[in-house]
Amino acid sequence: MKKKKSWQKYSIGGTSLLVEEILNICRKENLRKVFIQVPEGLSQYAHRISSELIQHGITAIVSIDPCYGACDIPYWKAEILKCDAIIHVGHTKLGDVDVPIKTYYLPIKKEIFNIEALDVLSEILLQRGYKKIGLVTIAQFLDLLPKISEYINKKGFETYIGKPTRRVVEKGQILGCNVSSARNIVKHVDAYVYYGDGIFHPIVVYMATKKPVFVVNPYTGEVKDVSEDGERVIKARILSMAKAKEAKRFAIVISTKIGQYRKTLLDTVVDFLKKYNREYSIIQMENIDPEVINHIKGVDAFVVLACPRIVYDDYRRFKKPVLTASELIESLKGTYNWRFEEL
Ligand code: SF4
Repeated sequence: MKKKKSWQKYSIGGTSLLVEEILNICRKENLRKVFIQVPEGLSQYAHRISSELIQHGITAIVSIDPCYGACDIPYWKAEILKCDAIIHVGHTKLGDVDVPIKTYYLPIKKEIFNIEALDVLSEILLQRGYKKIGLVTIAQFLDLLPKISEYINKKGFETYIGKPTRRVVEKGQILGCNVSSARNIVKHVDAYVYYGDGIFHPIVVYMATKKPVFVVNPYTGEVKDVSEDGERVIKARILSMAKAKEAKRFAIVISTKIGQYRKTLLDTVVDFLKKYNREYSIIQMENIDPEVINHIKGVDAFVVLACPRIVYDDYRRFKKPVLTASELIESLKGTYNWRFEEL
């Protein structure tokens, strides 16, 4: 398989590169019929991807249902459609998720190395007196981490790229539900640098480590300290725990996505709610949408056992307090020791 294909190459009329990669997999693995999951940005090319592969003799069914991570591989759809395999475009494999049918991963890589932004970052780190720096990123920019590390080290800093545990497989990689690459080096670093766009992932690094986190946005060149944003979210979480303490009726919301359903945790939450004499229900929803959840009547608080991002990033969209499992337990006990809930 060819490496280092960029999102731009795929999205600016270059879907043939993606088709070529899929064709290579199909030929090598002797696949005749495949279920292809594409991220939202590529759904506009669904017809083109499918039709090009069909012209090459592969029955390609392109799924354009929303998909936010490799935790969401709907293998039963591929089984119903009698496909030989799934091709998941956009994310790396998760170490703790075993999909029961053959699945191939084509993460999208981006090659934007923004030297000017790294120079600005170095100035800020110098001013703030941070010397030992932990580097983290998301799958798209992983290949750039060694180059970023080398560049920053030449300016006199000492960089660390942490080994992950459980579901993350690549060094320095983080997910919204797992920042072990950052946590595992917390004792060695003064601050973290997240190379990538968006601020949710770096905020989570702050929430899990309580060390300063700087975002270097490769597209805009902006460098931003998100520590205060992280602190704000933690305070909001503790407030939700306090509000939920008075709740009598809880709805536990679960998802059956293969990398999000946690049976043992569900059992634990049910046990706690029984122990504290609370009324509870269990609600299943694949893509948990606060606007739909808000319509459920007779509930004082929600406990979401799916992707933790729904709680940490979307909590403002819920009309009632919404908690993770650990937040619920702390709330019921009245101890309010907040901790990041990692999958
Ligand atoms: S559970 Fe959420 S944060 Fe984790 S991989 Fe899935 S979508 Fe991403």
